[in-house]
Amino acid sequence: MLEVSGVSAGYGRAEVLWDIDLTVKEKEIVALVGPNGAGKTTLLRALSGMVATTAGSISFRGTTVQGRSIEQIVDLGISHVPEGRRLFPGLTVRDNLRLGGWRVKNTDIDRVVEMFPRLGERLGQVAGSMSGGEQQMCAIGRGLMSRPELMMIDELSLGLAPVVVEEIAERLPDIAADGTSILLVEQDVDTALTVAERAYVLETGRIVLSGKAGELLADPRVQESYLGIG
Ligand code: ATP
Repeated sequence: MLEVSGVSAGYGRAEVLWDIDLTVKEKEIVALVGPNGAGKTTLLRALSGMVATTAGSISFRGTTVQGRSIEQIVDLGISHVPEGRRLFPGLTVRDNLRLGGWRVKNTDIDRVVEMFPRLGERLGQVAGSMSGGEQQMCAIGRGLMSRPELMMIDELSLGLAPVVVEEIAERLPDIAADGTSILLVEQDVDTALTVAERAYVLETGRIVLSGKAGELLADPRVQESYLGIG
């Protein structure tokens, strides 16, 4: 469904990503892990049209993504839940969700409330007054409102307690099974490799390891560098 092939990208003359190959298939959860500054966010930005690529190709369902506007990429079925959630803190949960559906004229929030019942109880609450976990649910919910076929989530776990991360992460398989594949960027490698089916490890702008998540979880290089084992 998503095919990234030989992609390089960066900011101005500063190259950040080199020769990235990555795929996401239908209904799949794929994790992208790696240390601070490896380029994970930059790759998501390239996929959603916020950063230009300097080499390679990105295609989604056979359509070239490069050269399209952010809005056109949303129309293709790709949604981006940014690092730090970026909600409108003064707007209610309901309005934040509706903004996510604006582009595709979707005002039906039932699917999101079904996924995250906690949001259903707080639709009239201003988003900025919710807990970090509830805000992340709202950000993911907003991302779902465009009915994407691929949702990219940047740092789901940022600033959240492990039990809250787990509560949210355990919803991801349902979202994927429902027809929205997920590309999950995470510094919490343990969580990412537990919830994902496949994963890529990005270090200083290059993919250095990839494979089934379970195999990477057992890989001594991953255990040593990312899980504090060994
Ligand atoms: P983190 O988890 O810390 O966000 P990351 O893997 O997502 O790390 P990126 O945010 O993609 O990494 O950053 C990769 C590199 O690109 C870093 O060296 C960073 O300083 C640089 N970079 C990020 N954003 C910009 C920008 N707007 N302009 C110039 N350089 C940038």
